[in-house]
Amino acid sequence: MSDERPVEASAVADRYRGLADEVRALGGDRVRIVAVTKTFPPEAIAAVVAAGCERIGENYARELIDKWERFTSAHRAGPVPEVHFIGGLQSNKVRSLVGIVEVWQSIDRESVVAELSHRRPGARILLQVNATGESDKGGCRPDQLDALMSAATSGGLTVEGLMTVGPTDGDPERTENAFRTVARLASDLDLPELSMGMSGDWRVAVAQGSTLIRVGSAIFGERPPRTL
Ligand SMILES: *Cc1c(COP(=O)(O)O)cnc(C)c1O
Repeated sequence: MSDERPVEASAVADRYRGLADEVRALGGDRVRIVAVTKTFPPEAIAAVVAAGCERIGENYARELIDKWERFTSAHRAGPVPEVHFIGGLQSNKVRSLVGIVEVWQSIDRESVVAELSHRRPGARILLQVNATGESDKGGCRPDQLDALMSAATSGGLTVEGLMTVGPTDGDPERTENAFRTVARLASDLDLPELSMGMSGDWRVAVAQGSTLIRVGSAIFGERPPRTL
């Protein structure tokens, strides 16, 4: 996990509430916030949930399992957020995550679809699309999406929408184009959810129809390095 720097709960709460206000002003009730807690300690989850956040996002299986155990044992009474898995996912990790993850946002290959259909029939998923052509990014190519969609529905999974990550360089025009492309793909497939936008580009994503933004550093500050 992280170096376990103390989490300043009041600063997290202030930033979360400020973000939520701005999101509501720009996107109304359509847009929900997934607070990305990767590499932050369990107290970060507690802080953002106490501020009213209902969803958290995590990227790494081992880290999530360990953190979730610590979070749930320390917060037996309070509200529990919905856990979204947003990182690169290999099929051999699915089994260990089925009791924790409620929304699988980063499904981008048929091997994972098959494993998840087997381990968690009916699971709620988003299909991740790589709309920037960057080879370091997860996601299927847009021309692979129909086949992946068919595999997921025939496997009995609940496909709620699409997920994408904007271009790494943050170029405004390329960002907007990528989000527009994915929004169109979701609309062609009649899928209601669109997970697009992070700390640096969520406003562009909301303008293109995002319904789920995944925000980490704008809530929690600079991320500590990954150690687990
Ligand atoms: C880390 C991460 C985020 C959050 O990034 P920030 O820039 O800190 O908001 C969102 N989505 C994915 C897929 C990530 O890996």
